[in-house]
Parts: sequence; C-alpha cells; structure tokens
Amino acid sequence: MHELAIAESVVSSVLARTGSRGVRVVRLRVGRLCAVVPDALTFSFDLAAAGTPLEGAALEIEDQQSRGRCRTCGEEFTLADAFLLCPCGSADVTLLSGRDLTIVSVEVEDGCAAPAVAETPRSG
Ligand SMILES: [Zn+2]
Repeated sequence: MHELAIAESVVSSVLARTGSRGVRVVRLRVGRLCAVVPDALTFSFDLAAAGTPLEGAALEIEDQQSRGRCRTCGEEFTLADAFLLCPCGSADVTLLSGRDLTIVSVEVEDGCAAPAVAETPRSG
C-alpha cells in the first residue's frame, strides 16, 4: 500500500512548512500514472496526520492528466490510460507529465492560503 508512504511524506513536507499551526486543507495534484487510489490516500492521510497539527485536515485530491510526446510523429497528446501509445500507432512516446505528485496549496487555520512553492512571508 504505497498510499501510506505518500501520505507520510505529504504530512512531513507540510509540517516542515507550517510548523505548529493547525492545518485545515491540504490540496494535492496527483498524476494519473501514480496509480494512487484517492480513498486509500485519504485514509492513509488521516492515519499519518493523527497526533500532528494536521490532524483533522481535509485532503483534496486533484487528478492530473498524463501527457506524452511521440518521437515518431512529434505529436503531443493526452494519455487516456497507462499505455504509452500515440494515436499514430507508435509506442515511441516520451512521458511529459502524469507521474507527478504535487502539494498545490495548504490552508492553515489563520485563514491565509500559503502556496506550497512560492512562500510569501506575511507580517501582521
Ligand atoms: Zn505519433
């Protein structure tokens, strides 16, 4: 069950940024090819968050479509499933996205949503 490992790393990454502040919402973007079961991830997140300031936080999971580029015809396209196959019939496809797992944003209890990547220090 790799969802538990993912949930634990999400919890520790968020804790590293939010410290002791309570967290209400964690938004994740999960590539289709990560093979993550959203229900299992939500369940694992609750387990991993127990006893930390993230306890009780809602986990929102967005689905990220996977995209590939064909090395035969140069076409970029959205992959409908886990098969790297271009509509032209070639399987010589580079995966552009779909294996990423990104923390999109975190909502802490003082109400300001902190972007996970670009953190802006606030005063007052
Ligand atoms: Zn092609």
